[in-house]
Amino acid sequence: MAVNSLNYDLHIHTEYCGHAGGMTVDVICKRADELGLETIAITDHISQPNDIEIIKRIGDEVSRIETNCKVIVGAEVDVDAEYDDGRLVTGALDDIDYVIAGFHYVPLIGTYPHGPDDCEMQADEFMKVWQKSLLGIVSNPKIDTLAHPGRLLAFSVDLDVFFDDALCVFDDAAKLSAKNNIAWEINELTYFRMDRRFDEHFYKISKLALDHGVKLVFGTDSHFPESIGKSEYANNIIERLGAENISTPGGMGLIK
Ligand SMILES: [Zn+2]
Ligand SMILES: [Zn+2]
Repeated sequence: MAVNSLNYDLHIHTEYCGHAGGMTVDVICKRADELGLETIAITDHISQPNDIEIIKRIGDEVSRIETNCKVIVGAEVDVDAEYDDGRLVTGALDDIDYVIAGFHYVPLIGTYPHGPDDCEMQADEFMKVWQKSLLGIVSNPKIDTLAHPGRLLAFSVDLDVFFDDALCVFDDAAKLSAKNNIAWEINELTYFRMDRRFDEHFYKISKLALDHGVKLVFGTDSHFPESIGKSEYANNIIERLGAENISTPGGMGLIK
């Protein structure tokens, strides 16, 4: 099978999120058609309970659009940073066809670090709240997919120091994810934001998930049209893990 075997993209934002200019439903679907993608998921942010209205609006727009692509309307629902138990900002998830959990903020303080120097919490303390939160997230069977595993960790502490500890946590998280049928994402945007020296760390996270029977699923996390369907990072992973080990939207149960 050709390496570039992905014909889907299950993580795409729209301009409604405020930081994805030009990403209308129309533009997204046209781009997906140009690329010949079979399936996409539009998964805008839910940062507070009322944001469900945005997801409904996207659903309305999708229902009026003509495209050859199967379009799933999902959401990337934020983990609630006011707690350290991994709860999401809303529990009203039943009407969302594809729920991605977005672990973006440091639990209890709510900051969004861009590197260890930027994390306003001591590393040891961070590791405790990160562990508790992550295990809480993957205990919630209403979640379909854990977005970009390891991203918050890598932006908050020195991975060279804490990666072995983190792997033990990922090990427990993978067991819970397998039990609750929560897939882990291969997230293209994280790859572009990450220092290349951590590529191997991120590979190990995906490998560990797979070894525990967790599904791996691809999404670009696109915030602009040109990145839809791009799979430079995913192709590296696929080459190493085997295309047969990357789940499809059908395999995820997202297409009836
Ligand atoms: Zn995210
Ligand atoms: Zn996202």
